[in-house]
Amino acid sequence: MAEDTATEDPGAPVRFMPQLIGLDYTIKTNPVAAAFGAALADGRITGHRCPSCQRVYAPPKGFCPICVVPTGEADLVEVADRGLVTSWTVLTPIQYAGQKEREDYALASILLDGADGTIGQQRLVDVPLDEIRMGLRVEAVWAPPDERVADDRGYGLGSAVSGWRPTGEPDAPPSAYQEHTL
Ligand SMILES: [Zn+2]
Repeated sequence: MAEDTATEDPGAPVRFMPQLIGLDYTIKTNPVAAAFGAALADGRITGHRCPSCQRVYAPPKGFCPICVVPTGEADLVEVADRGLVTSWTVLTPIQYAGQKEREDYALASILLDGADGTIGQQRLVDVPLDEIRMGLRVEAVWAPPDERVADDRGYGLGSAVSGWRPTGEPDAPPSAYQEHTL
């Protein structure tokens, strides 16, 4: 009978095998993402307002996917660095080699004041995990200016904002986020 490697005990502890690899990427930043990143380095979050439907996209896409119209510098707006939590996930970090996280932590989608869409994968700080809720008002904790590295592709906030902490304001009502929950 051939050696069978597929019958390993499924109840056995997971084994880890360290394997270090390096990957170099060259990403050509588009002008919209570059301008967004420059504003982030300056401590501002910008977006584009669609000239047709008035929706504000932050980060800007350079177009409105609903109206299928381009947006540009003429449509540039600044949105607040505060908003509300629309959804979140608590993560328990697996302690693999190189893992820097030790404690459970939460990532949230944040609906910024003045924007019509959420920014995902945002770290919540200064709030107990069991006190996180939809409608929780939060504000950006900006990284020091020399550490604000934007996401090359303009999809997120990169390392410009290190986390979001509660503002202490009353929770936003469900009507403020009901169209933005997952
Ligand atoms: Zn539109």
